[in-house]
Amino acid sequence: MKNQNEKYCNECAAIISKNAYICPHCGVKQSGVNIDTERLAESAKVGTFTVVLLLLVFIRGVARVSIPLFIIGGAASAAYYYYDMQKNSYSEDDFYVSVIVMIIVPIIGYFISLITTKILRKLNYQG
Ligand SMILES: [Zn+2]
Repeated sequence: MKNQNEKYCNECAAIISKNAYICPHCGVKQSGVNIDTERLAESAKVGTFTVVLLLLVFIRGVARVSIPLFIIGGAASAAYYYYDMQKNSYSEDDFYVSVIVMIIVPIIGYFISLITTKILRKLNYQG
């Protein structure tokens, strides 16, 4: 049965992943798949994940925790990309995207955590 993450191949009508660029059964490239839109959706998911981590830091009020959290976040994002890449047809671009995400998320997270630390110091540790 076809679930919400699946679709029918345009060529052979096999049930394949909704995100597949190429049918694993007949090898025909799927039309109507906008790769950039798919990527954008993936980036949005990672971005949301980062925001949730940032909120966690604010809720906990412990800025020190944020650095390992963001490193875990980056690793989790990369792992997610890698898993998604394995599930669908392999694309070399996806590998680079996963590497970029793995590197960029912790870097952005680190800078956000630095700013968070400064804000928290101003709010809580004044005087
Ligand atoms: Zn097919």
